[in-house]
Amino acid sequence: MSIAGRVSTLRRPRDLMEERPPAAWTARIVTLFPEAFPGILGLSLTGKARDQGLWGLDTIDLRPFGLGKHKNVDDTPAGGGAGMVLRADVVGPALDHAALGTPEDRTRWPVVYMSPRGKPFTQAMAQRFAGAEGMTILCGRFEGVDERVLDHYAIEEVSIGDFVLTGGELAAQIVIDATIRLLPGVLGNQASTEEESFSHGLLEHPQYTRPAEWQGRAIPEVLMSGHHGRIEAWRRAQSEEITRTRRPDLWDAHIAKQKKGD
Ligand code: SAH
Repeated sequence: MSIAGRVSTLRRPRDLMEERPPAAWTARIVTLFPEAFPGILGLSLTGKARDQGLWGLDTIDLRPFGLGKHKNVDDTPAGGGAGMVLRADVVGPALDHAALGTPEDRTRWPVVYMSPRGKPFTQAMAQRFAGAEGMTILCGRFEGVDERVLDHYAIEEVSIGDFVLTGGELAAQIVIDATIRLLPGVLGNQASTEEESFSHGLLEHPQYTRPAEWQGRAIPEVLMSGHHGRIEAWRRAQSEEITRTRRPDLWDAHIAKQKKGD
């Protein structure tokens, strides 16, 4: 399959997508700024993996779904107030278009709206998304989207943190990045996703590489010992200490899980 075929930007609603599920894990992005994609995802390991067909990206430009001569996509908030709101009768048809050829079962194909009001994005969520066949992500702009669209399509709202961005595109790229690096073959070394931060509920131990001494600072002796048992124990202790002091919330959850015998 050609790369052009997988990374398609559908500028006109008439260019209907194929009515069969994509071959590889695919993100369908509904956005006013399709040119923002693949963005950083086109670089390095994620870019290479896309070139190899391990994941795909379809952007659905919201603009052609706009109304009237000027293809308006937004309007003033009902009840008054600052800013503009993306219209339900514009976003709805774009989401219908994005749904073409995708499974209706949301476990197989999650449909997400990037939103500061959403459930905080976590590694567990990335794992769930990576276990699906792909996902649709709606990127908001301005004050967001008409609530009725979210209700009508039972869209899952996901936040990347307690701050407000100008649009959902950067947030979507973060979600996609964290998800596709979990897909088989995307990272060179599969083991690296099994040992890193969050995968066991703990933050990662410190990492070092050559030179053995830098600015008077030596690499901890144990790491140079070649003794795998001692290295493992040291890393584990560091990991626990870093989690306990930096993220008491994660530490408490970890302890609670251990008490339950998991
Ligand atoms: N008025 C909204 C904020 C709109 S910000 C509110 O107060 O909740 C514009 C768009 O940026 C949103 O529609 C959303 O898609 C995106 N966005 C902003 N902050 C985000 C965050 N923390 N996580 C995910 N998406 C975010």
